[in-house]
Amino acid sequence: MTAEIIDGKAFAAKVRAQVAAHVAVIRESHGVIPGLAVVLVGEDPASQVYVRAKGKQTVEVGMNSYEHKLDADTSEADLLALIKRLNGDADVHGILVQLPLPGHLNEDLVISSIDPAKDVDGFHISNVGLLGTGQKSMVPCTPLGCLMMLRDHHGSLSGMDAVIIGRSNIVGKPMAQLLLGDSCMVTIAHSRTRDLPDVVRRADIVVAAVGRPEMVPGDWIKPGATVVDVGINRIDAPEKGEGKTRLVGDVDFASVVQVAGAITPVPGGVGPMTIACLLANTLTACCRAGGMPEPEGLTV
Ligand code: NAD
Repeated sequence: MTAEIIDGKAFAAKVRAQVAAHVAVIRESHGVIPGLAVVLVGEDPASQVYVRAKGKQTVEVGMNSYEHKLDADTSEADLLALIKRLNGDADVHGILVQLPLPGHLNEDLVISSIDPAKDVDGFHISNVGLLGTGQKSMVPCTPLGCLMMLRDHHGSLSGMDAVIIGRSNIVGKPMAQLLLGDSCMVTIAHSRTRDLPDVVRRADIVVAAVGRPEMVPGDWIKPGATVVDVGINRIDAPEKGEGKTRLVGDVDFASVVQVAGAITPVPGGVGPMTIACLLANTLTACCRAGGMPEPEGLTV
């Protein structure tokens, strides 16, 4: 058996087109342009790449992008003052503070200072609580993208056995809430899980969010299962030349693709969906703020 490849790149393009169409509608009908403010502190190279990609795609769907680049030694007080200003700015509907922050800044404090209605990352404890109690919230982008792909592939997820590997606040835990909300039976596995292969082997849906290159081999996978690979790991690729690298997921694609029913590739799977969902969340936040109809299918 060879798994169907779930094309996250193509799916993300569809989501962006849907966002762009809805942005055009509210611009026309209400004269409102959704705005996303991204705050980057310091010069972490990976963060710079993400922030650039986010800004570019925000503009491409017709929204306003506001980038705030702060020095690595910016004080907590200055960062909190910027967030306060953005919270009060009616043109800004979404605020994203790029993580990780430099060590002297308290991430929990910074996230909790964002207006929950503008928290398009869905990391504020209000949104975490709303999601956990099945209420309308801002949903973290990566798990939201995973859920969209799973719903698209399966239709109903009701009754399916889902195993999530990884219990982070940004992927594993919200993914569990979303799958629970769709009536899956959910297990969260983590670094202390005993017999991880056996736990994963019973799953109809496996979501791998660990950060360990190719750790999930094909013989952990139940034949026909759907595998969502969240991991992004850069490894050496001597076959491409000296000093070259390539991206791999947390799943050993070559062996898992032989067993699974469907799989998201790395790159081209969850990654593109994450930014598309950020745009969707910004649009949703804008619609909620202005009492405008929300786009369908772009949030839970
Ligand atoms: P994290 O480091 O916060 O969490 C990793 C989790 O994996 C922890 O809960 C830990 O308990 C678990 N873990 C570690 N070793 C394990 C083991 N041997 N067996 C089972 N579980 C183990 O990571 P994160 O922020 O959740 O990110 C996970 C991966 O997803 C990383 O590769 C990251 O780059 C990637 N990621 C991708 C996107 C995207 O857009 N595609 C977004 C966020 C994160």
